[in-house]
Amino acid sequence: MDDVPISKVKVRAHLKKKWNKGGGCGVCGENAWEVQAEEFFLPNNEMDKRLSVCPVICSQCGNTMLISSSIVRKDFANRS
Ligand SMILES: [Zn+2]
Repeated sequence: MDDVPISKVKVRAHLKKKWNKGGGCGVCGENAWEVQAEEFFLPNNEMDKRLSVCPVICSQCGNTMLISSSIVRKDFANRS
């Protein structure tokens, strides 16, 4: 299941469902998030594991959140 691509649409839908504070940025307070089109991978120190993430960036101040791709996948796998 981990090779299923994550789309911006899925990340946005996941955040819309989970975000409980109206979507304001914790740094500047604006609601100007941009979901990145690509999934990224953060390696651990030994480079033998990687964490897949979907970056969500505030276009006003640059604050960046990393949403776990596997949690988004689980969210959509549980919807049916
Ligand atoms: Zn911001």
